[in-house]
Amino acid sequence: MALPVEEWRGIAARRWAALKPALRKRLATASLGEALRVGCGLLGPEEAALQRLCRRARTGKEPAAARFYREEGNRQFGRCRYRDAVRLYSQAAAHEPPCSPDVALCFANRSAALFHLGHFEVCLEDIARAQSHGYPDRLLPKVLLRKAECLLRLGRLQDATDTLTAVENKMAIDGIMTSPIHLTLLKKLSQLKTEIHEKESCPEPAREAHGDIQRESEIWEENGSISGASSSLSLNFNTERGRHLVASQDILPGQDLLKEKAFVSVLCPGEGDSLLLQDSSETVWDAQVTNADLYCHRCLTQLLASVPCCGCSYAKYCSQNCADVAWEQYHRTECPLGALLLTLGVFCHVALRTVLLAGFSEVSRLVEWSHDDDNKDLRNAEVGGKHPSEAPDTRAGTKGIPGCNDNGQYQSSYQAVFNLLPHVEKHSPEHKFLCMLSVVAICKKLQETGLEAAALNRESSAMGSEQKTYEKTSDELSPELMIMAEAMLRHVLQLQCNAQAITVMQELESGDGAVVNKKPVRLATAFFPVLSLLNHSCSPNISVSFSGTAATVRASQPIPSGQEIFHCYGPHRCRMRVAERQQLLSQYFFECRCQACLDELESDVESVSMRNSFCCPSCQASMQGEDMLCCSNAACGLSVSRGRLSQRLLDLQQQIKKAVELLRDGKADEAIKMLLKCQMDARNFLSPEHLLMGELEDHLAQVYATLGKWQEAARHLERSIQLVEMHHGPSSVEMGHELFKLAQILFNGFAVSEALSTIQRAEEILSVHCGPQSTQIQELQEMKTCLLELPRSILQRT
Ligand SMILES: [Zn+2]
Ligand SMILES: [Zn+2]
Ligand SMILES: [Zn+2]
Ligand SMILES: [Zn+2]
Repeated sequence: MALPVEEWRGIAARRWAALKPALRKRLATASLGEALRVGCGLLGPEEAALQRLCRRARTGKEPAAARFYREEGNRQFGRCRYRDAVRLYSQAAAHEPPCSPDVALCFANRSAALFHLGHFEVCLEDIARAQSHGYPDRLLPKVLLRKAECLLRLGRLQDATDTLTAVENKMAIDGIMTSPIHLTLLKKLSQLKTEIHEKESCPEPAREAHGDIQRESEIWEENGSISGASSSLSLNFNTERGRHLVASQDILPGQDLLKEKAFVSVLCPGEGDSLLLQDSSETVWDAQVTNADLYCHRCLTQLLASVPCCGCSYAKYCSQNCADVAWEQYHRTECPLGALLLTLGVFCHVALRTVLLAGFSEVSRLVEWSHDDDNKDLRNAEVGGKHPSEAPDTRAGTKGIPGCNDNGQYQSSYQAVFNLLPHVEKHSPEHKFLCMLSVVAICKKLQETGLEAAALNRESSAMGSEQKTYEKTSDELSPELMIMAEAMLRHVLQLQCNAQAITVMQELESGDGAVVNKKPVRLATAFFPVLSLLNHSCSPNISVSFSGTAATVRASQPIPSGQEIFHCYGPHRCRMRVAERQQLLSQYFFECRCQACLDELESDVESVSMRNSFCCPSCQASMQGEDMLCCSNAACGLSVSRGRLSQRLLDLQQQIKKAVELLRDGKADEAIKMLLKCQMDARNFLSPEHLLMGELEDHLAQVYATLGKWQEAARHLERSIQLVEMHHGPSSVEMGHELFKLAQILFNGFAVSEALSTIQRAEEILSVHCGPQSTQIQELQEMKTCLLELPRSILQRT
């Protein structure tokens, strides 16, 4: 997903292998600009193949898709599944041409579903949208009545009355009203009138302002030299560790350390992106949901009633404002390139958006600066804490630190992004070649489709007049595009080490919503220049959480003054053993020497692998060996290939998936049977501490919760929690989420004292990781208040 699709990677690899050795050698050692000058001529023969690959990505507006989604939406609406209906109407709207009666119908239908969900304000927005997109006149009364009802529910009585008057006039103008539909409308009309009248005569007490209680926010003193960082951090630089952040005073767990908005972020298509990359020979639309359906293309907030882009079917926004800003900043260039960007992967997409956001003048200023030989020391100065050998000696103070401006300030700016390490010499030549061809393909497309002017923030008329025009079919790129290409190539290479995933806890669809089940999902890939200053440790001392495109870093443990702040790039000591971690970290071009790695390498205690291992299918003793596993019980002596047990594990996971689907379809009894069977099977070949055993308990808890069997649910969840604690540690964020679930179950089951103590534990952990303002903490506090206000009679019963 981060990299181009497999087929394009294959084409690039074959092309690379077929190049003359001298050319390969030249490319391998060339600077980025030089490589691009050579590379421009090498794309030609592969362009047709790339175009074919792009045809599989469905990013345009397709009437057939619109029809499919609208009909599917109607079907769900008929089954009272309004949430699904809203989503499907949104998908339909994204495929309809803007300002057509069809798109207006989508919005009108969606407004009906929103009405049923009680989202009256959003419903009103959709009605207005339907009207502005040319909703058919003859259907207007029905929608206007809905509008009046919304206004009524919102307590805007005068507006409701005015709307009703408009409906009456409209119906009068339309002539005799004898059709059944008109008669029902008339009935509704008089009903609403009575309701308004009643409300007017006995006004409701003014409602309390809800949920907006301004909490005392933590005292936040911003750092003078690092934007977004707390004053308890300082930016240091030395030959051994490169740029890094250090505590300049004692830090408490849960303390905010950094708040940074992504310089750039691109929504990942997500797991469900098969829809976008299926074979076009047989188009089968399905109702699968992708990240693009759930989150705003620009600001990543969760979508309810999305605003579609007027040019493509994949960009959906939370509001017209987001749509307009995105269009202005980058989407007018990206919109026609959707299929190409999906094919070339998220890193290429981030690279393009980075240069579009930075603007041509800033891009060319920094590219030229990087060509200047005098800056060579500075360019190589950052070592990222991993390559002591090449780091030059540097003077003290932030002034000489790469990425800092003339005042010695490090800001979340394009200059800071540009100064992240691209590791040009460390990537394999094949990889650089693939990235280079991909970047050239994007720039060629910009030139061909006349998007160059937009990409360079220029009026197209001003461009063509004085400059040499580059033929659409030319192998050459204009000098301006060459500069953009060079910056983009640099960014693609930087991303391998500096891409930051934006993750959120996504609510899983489940039975009835009594217990909210969430799992972490990768939402977007981004550049955070300040966050990037943190070096990696497999045992980090911070926790990062995201809200939209903003990251908040909190201390997850006490950090004494002088200690370095460590972020975990992915391989955490709780999840992987040291060999796996080192393997994963090799993509960042360094060997981890964190305390956890040093300890494990010395002691060769493989605690994690022990926990997530197979056991003997015959006697359940532990198994030993690599590819061929042997039972440790000499009397048994069974041996099985690892591959076979791995396959069995995969099959089991499939079964569990099916059970979860059963639950989703409301077949809880069947789901329980299936899960219990899976559990028996799992016990036969997985160690009791295997994470999957915990997962099974977790699912069982979920099923019992939907049945209202709270005690059983709690019992299963407690077992799952034991395993989570073992794998992730007692104060991990994973532990916090599990305790949150347990609190909900105990709450629902009126197990008051247990619920209160669980809420307490969950609160302690989650406030450190997610902050006191997070929705989860607020929900916990609501539960607590509710429990404490229960009548004494209930409290005594428990
Ligand atoms: Zn938005
Ligand atoms: Zn678009
Ligand atoms: Zn490590
Ligand atoms: Zn055995």
